[in-house]
Amino acid sequence: MVNRRIAETLRSGQPDESLLVQGWVRTKRESKGFAFIEVNDGSSLANLQVVINQDLPDYEAILKKLNTGVAVEVTGVLVASLGKGQRIELKAEAVKVYGEADPDTYPLQKKRHSFEFLRTIGHLRSRTNSFGAVFRIRNACSTAIHQFFQERGFLWVHTPIITASDCEGAGELFSVTSLDLKKIPRTDNQAVDYTQDFFGKPTYLTVSGQLEAEVMAMAFSNVYTFGPTFRAENSNTSRHLAEFWMVEPEMAFCDLEGDMDLAEAFLKHIFKYVLENCPEDMEFFNQRIDNTVLATADNIINNEFERLTYTDAIKLLEKADVKFEYPVSWGLDLQSEHERYLAEQLFQKPVIVTDYPAQIKAFYMRLNDDEKTVRAMDILAPKIGEIIGGSQREERLEVLERRVLAQGLNPEELWWYLDLRRYGTVPHAGFGLGFERLVQFITGMGNIRDVIPFPRTPQNAEF
Ligand code: ATP
Ligand code: MG
Ligand code: MG
Ligand code: MG
Repeated sequence: MVNRRIAETLRSGQPDESLLVQGWVRTKRESKGFAFIEVNDGSSLANLQVVINQDLPDYEAILKKLNTGVAVEVTGVLVASLGKGQRIELKAEAVKVYGEADPDTYPLQKKRHSFEFLRTIGHLRSRTNSFGAVFRIRNACSTAIHQFFQERGFLWVHTPIITASDCEGAGELFSVTSLDLKKIPRTDNQAVDYTQDFFGKPTYLTVSGQLEAEVMAMAFSNVYTFGPTFRAENSNTSRHLAEFWMVEPEMAFCDLEGDMDLAEAFLKHIFKYVLENCPEDMEFFNQRIDNTVLATADNIINNEFERLTYTDAIKLLEKADVKFEYPVSWGLDLQSEHERYLAEQLFQKPVIVTDYPAQIKAFYMRLNDDEKTVRAMDILAPKIGEIIGGSQREERLEVLERRVLAQGLNPEELWWYLDLRRYGTVPHAGFGLGFERLVQFITGMGNIRDVIPFPRTPQNAEF
């Protein structure tokens, strides 16, 4: 018997084909002498309609069990569907019920649930239409990312999760401790501290793989990382997580212009890939979550991003006829309200802001001749704000050493990073894309907690 995923059956299944389908029941409708169930196996938004006739052995008993959430295996023959909404349906010849789901306690019923409620049942929410679509698009984005870089000859490098350096110098770190649970007494109340740091050295969970990616770029020219990063963000915004995934390409023999060109081509590629490979899911987001999702995709693919300097951006913000919560003036970092104003209202497309003041950016960014600004760029997206942060890196040893000291960092800890400028240094550049912000941008989902299977925030580490 052919065992086929539902997406493929809906796309290309033909009448008279026999097949076996496995999945979870979404709904049941009973009529006189027969019943319909909708089965979903996660492969597509659409369900497969299964018709069960009363001549099936044990019809009544099986039907009673086929509630929302039940795991089933159906064997049958495909027939052209007479009803509206589907081309084809499965006429059941045998139905095997695996795990049942008590309709009185199963939390997912046919009605629409709020995202807030679904966050409290994170272990079940992937069975809903919205989360099915989100995680299929997340998967497509991952594939598109690798495709983009692999086609251009970039090497995917794996940078460490445990590090001794604070890449950004921003201090939002989680530290690593080792713990021998077997040695901790559980029966008495004696408090014994068996925690240790990393074999005698303080270490942290990585906030970015950039510094290590630079090491690899100095040997392979073009590399990228794609992995989890961690920041102790004790805040509750809709765009910050304590654990998020980052994509970080790093290119040797590259300046800020090359970096911006790559970042723009990269975003366009991902949107195109997702539109081509997940059209039903994208249509769903446009209809149910945010009716500008398809127009946004079209806008990204077909228009050049706006490029302007930080200094010009500040002038535009100072002239804006909106009242911002946070002040705007040269030398202050842009807040998300300013970023969104530029991308959403003023230019109505992604904006690349360049040449930020050195004092608000990391030590490794290339100092401009004015000695006040650095060759940094942030890509600001409508509805999201900053989605990408990148820069040309400081390749001159003396300048880099000066900048390290100026930011209160210890050059001795960065000896290996400085060595890259001592031996075979070259202009190079890269950027970091927050993967969850990208998925938010594409799907129109309002909260970053709803585009990652297991969000890590100050309130949430349970499952
Ligand atoms: P923000 O200003 O929004 O806090 P950032 O400037 O601190 O971001 P970078 O250090 O430039 O962030 O990191 C690169 C990218 O990683 C950002 O452009 C963003 O897309 C993403 N990012 C940063 N922090 C988070 C976070 N806490 N959760 C999810 N994504 C994040
Ligand atoms: Mg930040
Ligand atoms: Mg920022
Ligand atoms: Mg940034």
